[in-house]
Amino acid sequence: QFPFGRRLPCDIYWHGVSFHDNNIFSGQVNKFPGMMETVRKITLSRAMRTMQDLFPVEYNFYPRSWILPEELPLFVAEVQMMRDSNPSWKPTFIVKPDGGCQGDGIYLIKNPSDIRLTGSIQIRPAVVQEYICKPLLVDKLKFDIRLYVLLKSLEPLEIYIAKDGLSRFCTEPYQEPTLKNLHQVFMHLTNYSLNIHSGNFIHSDSANTGSKRTFSSILCRLSSRGADVKKLWSDIISLVIKTIIALTPELKVYYQSDIPAGRPGPTCFQILGFDILLMKNLKPILLEVNANPSMRIEHEQELSPGVFENVPSPVDEEVKVAVIRDTLRLVDPQKKKRKDTQCLPSQPPSAILCCRCPSWEQTPGASEARLEPDASPSPEAALPSLCLKQVFPKYAKQFSYLRLVDRVAALFIRFLGVKGTTKLGPTGFRTFIRNCKLSNSNFSMAAVDILYIDITRRWNSMGIDHKESGMCLQAFVEAFFCLAQKKYKSLPLHEQVASLIELCECRLAALHRAVPASGTA
Ligand code: ADP
Repeated sequence: QFPFGRRLPCDIYWHGVSFHDNNIFSGQVNKFPGMMETVRKITLSRAMRTMQDLFPVEYNFYPRSWILPEELPLFVAEVQMMRDSNPSWKPTFIVKPDGGCQGDGIYLIKNPSDIRLTGSIQIRPAVVQEYICKPLLVDKLKFDIRLYVLLKSLEPLEIYIAKDGLSRFCTEPYQEPTLKNLHQVFMHLTNYSLNIHSGNFIHSDSANTGSKRTFSSILCRLSSRGADVKKLWSDIISLVIKTIIALTPELKVYYQSDIPAGRPGPTCFQILGFDILLMKNLKPILLEVNANPSMRIEHEQELSPGVFENVPSPVDEEVKVAVIRDTLRLVDPQKKKRKDTQCLPSQPPSAILCCRCPSWEQTPGASEARLEPDASPSPEAALPSLCLKQVFPKYAKQFSYLRLVDRVAALFIRFLGVKGTTKLGPTGFRTFIRNCKLSNSNFSMAAVDILYIDITRRWNSMGIDHKESGMCLQAFVEAFFCLAQKKYKSLPLHEQVASLIELCECRLAALHRAVPASGTA
């Protein structure tokens, strides 16, 4: 630990909160630049919305969401429209302040007019989201799942999922929301930090009882009831990969700004906490992504009213120690050096259920022991099998068609110009249009400037990031979609966007071939 700063370069830097450190020129850091900003409730909802616009079916695991205050009129209008078309629809919504955590400031409403507009929202933006009214219950209680995901690399994309996670239980039996029970947080919110204060919270040393259990214990229970847990796992893996695909464009913009290509700098990895709710029909729903999931392996116990003591929590320990241990194993710099000769065995998705799979337990350690130059046994030989399972690039083929915004972000980054920025200036946007030959008699350069000004002004007025002026990635994506719709009128949106990307990539490649030395931007 270096509470007062660090002097020597390290192999691995383990930061408490965020990437930020200007003095790292090598090694690996356990945080990505911009991750905290990218997974905030509003930014995540925007990224998911973009993906839902492109691929509505593939991204239906994220509840319909609106951003407050700017989308309040849209929220009111859409709810009214849905009510008109289906008068029996009796929805509930959940309002969550942006940047909040641990259930802070969250409340449920039945009508858009119940949004508390005075005070908090004007100061603190929020997301209002469709409330999932029919969650899967265990012992009559609502619960959610915290799954640990390792984003090992952004380029190329490498994702691992921990084979076990935590299930966090409510402490009051669940009832579907009514005006009478809307305020009962112990019934509707699964946050540990809230439920610990309920008199009904049960600390247990066993993985399959109490208010916090392992996810594997829930799966065993579901499996014994005849549920298709293989399908559930495969749905969860899809959810995780698709969510990360939605986040990577923004992350890449931050990355090139903090760690410019071609200069000495570290690489990054990060453990993320995915909060997932299961619906009654076992469909997983993404609630949120945490950039700094709690890695505590103790819990607070109230000895007498108001007097708390930290005691070990075997359930947390079982899951979290394995996640950190195996993250370190995967990013081990020595392992990188041996990469060419080493080959970890891969498993089909169903193997994720089997935490004590002998082939996982023996092969990596055993092969490494043989590879040690001094023939001394690798420290890995004594460790349990990896709890982290690679899911990307393993399943890349199935998901690559979803990576359209990534390619739009690559165009954006190419025209950013001066390294270290995250926003595109008007000249950069004009150069993009000119180099991709997108301007013509129907779309003059004056119209290009108007498009730039209109979209940029609107995004900047939403007050997300005032540090730099110019067009942010989301604004560029909106402009790009606009151009794609103009050019390829009759196609579905994702085909319009894919066609425009191909056209731009093709024209830039041709330009690059013609003037290789001067570049394109
Ligand atoms: P926080 O960061 O404050 O924990 P979350 O988005 O995780 O905010 O929401 C807190 C809790 O509220 C979740 O753990 C879950 O129990 C419940 N919740 C959140 N969103 C929904 C939703 N759309 N439908 C049903 N329950 C939800």
